[in-house]
Amino acid sequence: MTAVTEVDALIVGGGPVGLAAGCALRAAGVKVLVADAGPAGRALDDARVIALSAGSRDILRGLGAWPATDVTPIQRIHISQRGHFGRTELRALDYDVEALGHVARAGTLARALGERAGALGLEVRYDTPVAGAQEQNGQLHVQTAGGDIAARVLLWCEGRISGDQALSRSRDYGQQAIIALATPVRPHGNVAYERFTPDGPVALLPYGRDYAVVYTCADTDAAALLAEPDAQFADRLASVMGERVQFSAIGQRSAWPLVLRMRTEIVRGREVWLGNAAQTLHPVAGQGLNLALRDVAQLTAVLLPALARGEGDIDTALQRYAQLRRTDRVATGGFTDTLVRVFGIGAGNPALGAVAGHARGAALALLDACPPARRFIGRRMMFGARGWP
Ligand SMILES: Cc1cc2nc3c(=O)[nH]c(=O)nc-3n(C[C@H](O)[C@H](O)[C@H](O)COP(=O)(O)OP(=O)(O)OC[C@H]3O[C@@H](n4cnc5c(N)ncnc54)[C@H](O)[C@@H]3O)c2cc1C
Repeated sequence: MTAVTEVDALIVGGGPVGLAAGCALRAAGVKVLVADAGPAGRALDDARVIALSAGSRDILRGLGAWPATDVTPIQRIHISQRGHFGRTELRALDYDVEALGHVARAGTLARALGERAGALGLEVRYDTPVAGAQEQNGQLHVQTAGGDIAARVLLWCEGRISGDQALSRSRDYGQQAIIALATPVRPHGNVAYERFTPDGPVALLPYGRDYAVVYTCADTDAAALLAEPDAQFADRLASVMGERVQFSAIGQRSAWPLVLRMRTEIVRGREVWLGNAAQTLHPVAGQGLNLALRDVAQLTAVLLPALARGEGDIDTALQRYAQLRRTDRVATGGFTDTLVRVFGIGAGNPALGAVAGHARGAALALLDACPPARRFIGRRMMFGARGWP
C-alpha cells in the first residue's frame, strides 16, 4: 500500500494564485502542499506583463512576495477612444497614493512568490497533475503519480474552468490579445494608456523604459499581426494611439485568446475555486490577477481561524467566503465585460458607430469633469469592491 501524504490544504496549480494562497496559509503555520502539472521554473518564462493595482501591492507586500526590483509605477492612466472626442485621466495625485498601480512581468512575480515559498518551506511538487478528488472520511483524496494526498480543504488554482461547469457569465469575444514590449521614442513618464478602438481595446503599460502593449484584434487577424514586420506593427500602434506615442523598436509578439468565464459555484463542500479557475476575464483594465489576489486575501482571512478551530467551522467559513466574494466578482466581471461591449458598439456599422462614439465621448468628457465619479472608478480599479464608498 502506498503512503498517503496528509495536509491541511492541498492547492492544485502553482501559478501566481496558487503560490500566493500557499504562502498565505504556510506563513500562518498551516500544512500546505502545492501540486503543479508543469515543470519547475516554467512560470518564470511567462511573457505577460501585468498591471498590479495598489490593493494587490498591499496584499503581496503582506505576503512578503512583492518583487524588490523590475516593477514600474503608473502615475497616470489616460483613457480615450479612437476616432471620437472625449478622454479622461486618472492621476495618482488625486487619490493621494504613490502610484495608481505597478507594472511587472508575470515571470518576475512568479520569481518573488517562488522565493517566498522557498523561505517559508512551502512544499511545491512539480510535474504533478491532479485530475479530481474523492471525499473519504471527511477528507479529500487525490491520486498523483507521486502518491496519494489527503487534505482537509482543496483549493483549485489550475488557471482554467473546464467545459462542463455551470457558468454565471460566459462570452467568447472572438478576439485575441497580441502582447509585446515596445520601446517609445520619448520617455513614457509613467503614463499608461487605455485606448478603445472598433477592433477592441489597446493598452500601453509603462514597463522599465518600454511600454508593454496589449493589442486586441479579431481572432482571424491574429496570425497576420504576429507575422507583420516590426516597423509595420510599430506604425500600426502609433496610428491607433493618434500619434501620441511613437515607437523605435518592437519586441517579440505572442497571442492570447480572450474569453469571459465566471464559475457559478466557487465553493463546493471543502473544495474552493480561485483565480482563473473561478473566473477568467478579458484583460481590459487589467483586472484578472488583481481580483484573484483579493480572492486569496479574503479566503485566508476566513479560513485560517476556522482551520484552527476545527472541522465544523471549516464548512461554515467556506460558505461565508463564497458570500463575501459575490459582490467583487460580479462587479469586476461585469465591469470588464461592459467596457468591452460598450466600446464595441457600432463596430462594422459606421452609422451606429458614429452615434455610439459620440455618446461614449460625452460620457468620457463627463467623467473627466466629475472628480467624484473619477475617484469612484479609480478606487474600484485599485482596491476592488472594498474601494467602494
Ligand atoms: C494578455 C493578458 C494580459 C493580462 N493582464 C493582466 C493585468 O494587467 N492585470 C491583471 O490583474 N491580470 C491580467 N491578466 C490575467 C492574469 O494573467 C491571470 O488572472 C492570472 O495569470 C491567473 O493566474 P492563475 O494562477 O489563476 O492561473 P495560471 O497562471 O494559469 O496558473 C495555473 C497553474 O496551474 C497549473 N495546472 C493546470 N492544470 C493543472 C492540473 N490539472 N493539476 C495541477 N496543476 C495544474 C499550471 O501548470 C499553472 O502553473 C492578463 C491575462 C492575459 C491573457
